[in-house]
Amino acid sequence: MRRTVLRLLATAALGLSAPALAQGQPAAASPAEPAAETARPQLVLAVSIDQLSSDLFAQYREHFTGGFARLLSGAVFPSGFQSHAATETCPGHSTILTGARPARSGIIANNWFNPAIARADKKIYCSEDLSDPASTSGNPVVSANLLKVPTLGELMKAANPTTRNVAVSAKDRAVVMMGGHKIDAGYWWKGSSFTTFKGRELTPAAQRANAAASALLAKGAPALKAPAWCGPRDQAVAIGNGTVGTYRFALPKGAKPDVLRVSPRMDAATVDLALGLVDELKLGQGAAPDVLSVSLSASDYIGHAVGTEGVEMCIQMAELDSNLGRLFAALDKRKIDYLVVLTADHGGHDAPERLRQQAMPGASRADKALMPAALGAEITRRTGIAAPQGPLIYGDGPFGDMYVNAAVTGAAKTRVVNELLNLTRNHPQVTAVFTAAELAATPVPAGNPQDWTIKERARASFMAERSGDVVVVLNRAVTPIPEPVLGAYVATHGSVWDYDRRVPMLFWRKGMTGFEQPNPVETVDIAPTLAAVIGLRLDDGAFDGRCLDLDAGAGNSCERAK
Ligand SMILES: [Zn+2]
Repeated sequence: MRRTVLRLLATAALGLSAPALAQGQPAAASPAEPAAETARPQLVLAVSIDQLSSDLFAQYREHFTGGFARLLSGAVFPSGFQSHAATETCPGHSTILTGARPARSGIIANNWFNPAIARADKKIYCSEDLSDPASTSGNPVVSANLLKVPTLGELMKAANPTTRNVAVSAKDRAVVMMGGHKIDAGYWWKGSSFTTFKGRELTPAAQRANAAASALLAKGAPALKAPAWCGPRDQAVAIGNGTVGTYRFALPKGAKPDVLRVSPRMDAATVDLALGLVDELKLGQGAAPDVLSVSLSASDYIGHAVGTEGVEMCIQMAELDSNLGRLFAALDKRKIDYLVVLTADHGGHDAPERLRQQAMPGASRADKALMPAALGAEITRRTGIAAPQGPLIYGDGPFGDMYVNAAVTGAAKTRVVNELLNLTRNHPQVTAVFTAAELAATPVPAGNPQDWTIKERARASFMAERSGDVVVVLNRAVTPIPEPVLGAYVATHGSVWDYDRRVPMLFWRKGMTGFEQPNPVETVDIAPTLAAVIGLRLDDGAFDGRCLDLDAGAGNSCERAK
């Protein structure tokens, strides 16, 4: 009772002012010190917008009137960096709440290879349980076993076991990488419904979300309206046998679930489920602060399917703004004092066909000759070395980590690696190629992530036991999709370039005084920043990032983290 009164007083009188923050105590504070807890938010809401580049944010921020408008009144960091080279979903989500770069989290890519393991494809999916014989890279048993560091939610639970750690997304890897190993409730979309970890039941909130999705698919839904400001984007651009740029997300009656998934409606369903879990688990209403991670995947699915600069992404930005507004308003209605951070797992880049029309004549698709199978075949032709079983070179595409077949060893392996370096380094679409030894010898980078060398970026997502024998870096504006699949995969991310590395980082809490800090920061700064505000005391070296002072004035929200 007393605590509630004090919390209301603190919220009303102080908001997120410096004195309120400075009075906080570590999460382990005993109930005998209720006054100390009043400054802490009751809920940490961590939102990731999959593929929301700083470029998209800059392009659309003037039009936002919903959830983004609220966030724009908080602490705005328009140049957050997913500073590593492997700008993919799994590594990106792993940085947000662990404060660790992929070099330490171990999440070096969505998929990596271990040519020495028994499974035929030698491929490992980032959020699978390798110890479960039922798990495959294509149909994983979902787990956080491969994540080598704890998440903020786990650290908070260690400090106070009553903290609930909940995560929801359309993607399993987003749930796992934001939630971590000890998740109280975690749901992601699979096929035509939300699912959860092996051995767990769907709770009523998830069952309701699935019933709503089934009903929507059965009934269908009309095309979405494009705001007037989308007008200039509404132009057809030819890719392959069709066009992109004018699609409006009509959901025909009885449509395949993927039509729903690749649309703003997937985000709406994810937000609905998140709110269902807030009520079911009474998040933000307990003695200790809870963590709710929400990763909204539709921007990424849309970016991949039709690119980033058509009317589709414009509609998505408007719908996303509205879905975020709905999420925040629902938490307000429940009188939950929440601290929200919004960021992205990586940025993105448009399809080269439209880039070429719009002042980037050099944009291209990667040469098929850079695919691992083609490189392996060419190396065999040149050296006579072939693998007794399986391909000579393993890799997940025409760039990134590449691995030599484990049966090729000693002098033969050296020849294969040298020929691989020769072929890739001399290719006109390749900027740089690093060997594992070169990256291992490179110091972990520090300082302004915008100024890091290409090698330092690659170092930040290098881990000797998981990374390739070589890492191939493509030129700027080379899309690593040799042959586009219209409506599914025409554009992507994953590069070392800043269109893929730079993402917004927005913090907001009721009553806080906003500011904008344009200098580069990193997504690994988020966890230490949140830890300080909730008063979680951790050892030095727990995070690769630094605490960002969210107090716009002379106060410092980081002070008690020291
Ligand atoms: Zn992603």
